[in-house]
Amino acid sequence: MTTAFYSHDDCMKHDMGPDHPESPERISRILARLADTRLAQELQWIRPDEITREQLLTVHPESYLRQLEELQPTHGRVFTDEETAMTPTTLRAARLAAGACVQAVDRVMTGASRNAFACVRPPGHHAERARSMGFCFYNNPALAALHALTNYDIDRVAIIDFDVHQGNGTVDIVGGDQRMLMCSSFQHPFFPHSHVYRQAGNIINVPIEAGCGSEDYRKQVMDAWQEPLRAFRPQLVVVSAGFDGHRLDPMGELNLETDDFRWITQWLVDLAAEYAGGRLVSMLEGGYHMEALCDSVIAHLEVLTAA
Ligand SMILES: [Zn+2]
Repeated sequence: MTTAFYSHDDCMKHDMGPDHPESPERISRILARLADTRLAQELQWIRPDEITREQLLTVHPESYLRQLEELQPTHGRVFTDEETAMTPTTLRAARLAAGACVQAVDRVMTGASRNAFACVRPPGHHAERARSMGFCFYNNPALAALHALTNYDIDRVAIIDFDVHQGNGTVDIVGGDQRMLMCSSFQHPFFPHSHVYRQAGNIINVPIEAGCGSEDYRKQVMDAWQEPLRAFRPQLVVVSAGFDGHRLDPMGELNLETDDFRWITQWLVDLAAEYAGGRLVSMLEGGYHMEALCDSVIAHLEVLTAA
């Protein structure tokens, strides 16, 4: 069994403008780097299909889906919040991105692949149940976790989010649902501010101070997550893989190194091996410094393919 790698050219057609950090180049640069490595041969390359409306409805209400469809312009750009824009191709990209995440769950749950990475955009973890936000429209990690719980004979899914921004959307959707344990580390105080103080038994927040480096970060995450995750015994590990905590990233203020993403991936792979038969589905969230993003994704994939 190997690592499934999901990507689709139409995810690059969603373009929020020449100066927007969440750019099509994020995917094209990763693909170009991969083509240069031996890793490319070790991945199972899969083109996702769009997520179905029925699958979207497991997380988002019909009224929200219709609102997005009505907002999507036939030409030009429409901003849904200060930093999130829709173009005529946005929802196709978002449906492919979310589709990749739920189809990756099918692949991993049926044993066709050991683990999977969805190299897609737009990202998902800021999208709340009925609100697009922070470059996100559909909540990819929540859709993946609920797809697994609804369609397979499991009742415990861990969601780990190491993006530099809190996955407020995921917290909004899964908070209080004891079938999921959401572990999130993020710079604090920082965007998106909205769900940091949301208390729920299944949410473990690790707020991290700006400037935090490798050693301190690793210790804080371990101290907070290790015990609850082991007690939870996840049957599937879903990862919101944001690489914007890298010290070079222009949007975050943490001082993490590429090696920290290798480390956390290994730790999650080991967790999945111990409790979930190795089943792990990871999806791209943030990461805005092109070189650091490519280095970090390669490190992430090296660990996944070696699992
Ligand atoms: Zn982020």
